[in-house]
Amino acid sequence: MSDLYNSCFLCPRRCGADRRISRGFCGESDQIRICRAALHMWEEPCISGSEGSGTVFFTGCQLRCIFCQNSDIALSHAGLEISEERLIEIFFELAAQGANNINLVTPSHFTPTVISAIDRAKSRGFTLPFVWNSSGYESIETLELLRGRIDIFLPDFKYFSSDLANSFSRAPDYFEKASLAVKKMLDIVGEPKFDDRGIMKKGVIVRHLVLPAHTDDSMKVIKYLFDTFGHSIYVSIMNQYTPMPSVSAYKDLSRRLTTYEYEKVVNFAADLGIKNGFIQSRGTARDSFIPAFDYTGVLKSI
Ligand code: SF4
Repeated sequence: MSDLYNSCFLCPRRCGADRRISRGFCGESDQIRICRAALHMWEEPCISGSEGSGTVFFTGCQLRCIFCQNSDIALSHAGLEISEERLIEIFFELAAQGANNINLVTPSHFTPTVISAIDRAKSRGFTLPFVWNSSGYESIETLELLRGRIDIFLPDFKYFSSDLANSFSRAPDYFEKASLAVKKMLDIVGEPKFDDRGIMKKGVIVRHLVLPAHTDDSMKVIKYLFDTFGHSIYVSIMNQYTPMPSVSAYKDLSRRLTTYEYEKVVNFAADLGIKNGFIQSRGTARDSFIPAFDYTGVLKSI
């Protein structure tokens, strides 16, 4: 499977880069790098629960949005290189800390290594669900490799408009690729299933971050998701947009979302009849909501 790095077509960018010796649009070689591996309490309640979600933050990203909320790791070259064996150890360490699941954040460009680590962990008795927490800009061929390995998909669905997707992520085909990806994810894991504590065991939760000044696009995304997938998926409407220094040239993105804008989108979703959904409370749009990418849990403690 590692030969998929030799001429990389893992995502819709289809760079064809030989990642043994160079890097593609995602900025990463064939060696996995991560910035943090720790319990995370601020995912959706059915993912974090009270014990936390065992998040592993991978470095690099195939989408690279200009407003990226995790730009320290997605856009820069921060991150420590680790072996596949160390990744497996991290899965077991997070489980020992009480994690409800292993939450792989932006893992798509490392798919060959990650699925090998999942297979090897499972062969050693690992039983927690694996969550694929991604940008939604995915190749369906790569997603097919996750069948039987990933239990929960947690993709973003960022844009309806091709112009916005082009301006902010240089991906004018984002809507087409993300809509095919969500269909594939639902095909792989099926309808949502929960344990008796309300923790998700299988399913798809699609996240949409409402951007300031672009509520019309948000409503088109939400209508598309509900018209297409109904109650087969959950929709998580997020208000935590935080302007990063990289958006200073974009007037529309240089402020936080207003309460009015967020409530307009949430009310629209409620009026459509969406019941399987999550919303965020006020006060989540803070820099402190962004985890510290300080290499917690990355290296083995001695
Ligand atoms: S995963 Fe990276 S190198 Fe591979 S096609 Fe996508 S952006 Fe290019």
